[in-house]
Amino acid sequence: MNNMKAYVLTEWEKLELQERPIPQLNEGECLIKVKYAGICGSDVHIYGGHHPTAKPPVVLCHEFMGTVEKIEGESFNLSEGDRVVVEPLVSCGVCEACRNGHWHVCKSLKLLGIHTDGGFSEYVKVDTKKVIKLSDELKDEEAALAEPFAVGFHVNQRAGIHTGDTVLVIGGGPIGIITGMVAMASGAKEVVFSEINDNRIEFIKSFGFNTIINPIKENALERVAELTGGEGFDVVFEVSGSQPGIVFAPEACKIRGTIVPVGFPSKNPEFPVLRCIFKELTVVGSRVYSFDHFKRAVELLPRIKKEYNIEALITDLKPLAELPEGIKQMKAGENMGKILIKM
Ligand SMILES: [Zn+2]
Ligand SMILES: [Zn+2]
Repeated sequence: MNNMKAYVLTEWEKLELQERPIPQLNEGECLIKVKYAGICGSDVHIYGGHHPTAKPPVVLCHEFMGTVEKIEGESFNLSEGDRVVVEPLVSCGVCEACRNGHWHVCKSLKLLGIHTDGGFSEYVKVDTKKVIKLSDELKDEEAALAEPFAVGFHVNQRAGIHTGDTVLVIGGGPIGIITGMVAMASGAKEVVFSEINDNRIEFIKSFGFNTIINPIKENALERVAELTGGEGFDVVFEVSGSQPGIVFAPEACKIRGTIVPVGFPSKNPEFPVLRCIFKELTVVGSRVYSFDHFKRAVELLPRIKKEYNIEALITDLKPLAELPEGIKQMKAGENMGKILIKM
């Protein structure tokens, strides 16, 4: 056992399945044998050459689960053979944010699978401190969703969600749906979605979220008033990144409510600042996740799967050899949910 297969992004829009040596471990690192690896929107972005700091050659993928193959040096109670996920952030440790303990908003934040070799590979070496053990209650496929659930958990924490809150999620892709599931698990009274794509509307409903506003087919603001007794939602997550979604968010939010922009807009959007002033809205940024939020999201997953069929978020499963097709499908927007690569 000296070599492994890895899909390498050798230049923009060019993926090559290579035979490579299995990485050598340094002190404090461990080797993970990857079982499932998720394709993320940012992988597609990098593939197309649109990421500001990523550079080929690199093995993409920051959302994977697997088993511990080998550990070098000290670790917490981690053993070879353990099923694990990995929090993929790489922080500098010396900037002001890092020194204040906010590693996830490091001034020069890097990610495993974007700036260093990630999960589209038979083996990955990682910092042992970043490894999180999985409970037996989670299936391998479900655990491969840990990273997007960590994103959903962090945005809910940033929103400061309270028991009984009413929540609107604008945009029903996988992150939107996951954000809604975590909001319910965090005590929300109701989660309403806003979505314009009919297939996505059906997909959202399949998880039991039955109240969906379609701004193309109905007067969205009248619908908000009807659903909230004329007051607006306590919390609005804007996950679409679209200009109409960004304008809708402060309109749909109640006086002194909270908006979290989650979706990346493709260019600088126009945002109705006056609505925020007059309604005294709180607009909160949210970047990836802190390590403790990642860990807590993993701990929350067994509870969430009792309420929702989270495995149904995975709409496609492909072998490593078909990674380029998976990326193309994502690029064309053909997939509803997550595409997983099975090693
Ligand atoms: Zn991602
Ligand atoms: Zn830093």
